[in-house]
Amino acid sequence: MKNYEFSTGAGITEKLTVSASCTGCGFCTRVCPMKNIELTEGKPHFNSNCVSCGACLQNCPLNAIHHRDEKSAARYRNPHIKPEELTYR
Ligand code: SF4
Ligand code: SF4
Repeated sequence: MKNYEFSTGAGITEKLTVSASCTGCGFCTRVCPMKNIELTEGKPHFNSNCVSCGACLQNCPLNAIHHRDEKSAARYRNPHIKPEELTYR
C-alpha cells in the first residue's frame, strides 16, 4: 500500500517511545495510514513501513507515544474531527 510519496522505513519510529500509560487499546494501529503498527503483548510494535506522518503519536488517546526529541508532550486534536474519522481500519 502506498498512500504517500515519502520513502518508507523506520522513519520516526526509531525515536518513538511508549509510556506505561498505554492500555493496549489499539487505536494507534487503526490510525496509521501504512498499517505499520501491530499490538504485541498489548503494546504497539512499529514495523518498517513508516512514513513519519506522526498520526500515531498525535492521536493516542492516552498520550502514551512520545518522540525522544519532542519539544512538548502536548497534543492538539481538531475538535471538529471525530477520532474514528481518522482511522484506516
Ligand atoms: S493508542 Fe496509545 S494507548 Fe492505545 S495501544 Fe496505542 S499507544 Fe497504547
Ligand atoms: S502513524 Fe505515521 S508515524 Fe506512526 S508508525 Fe504509522 S506511518 Fe509511522
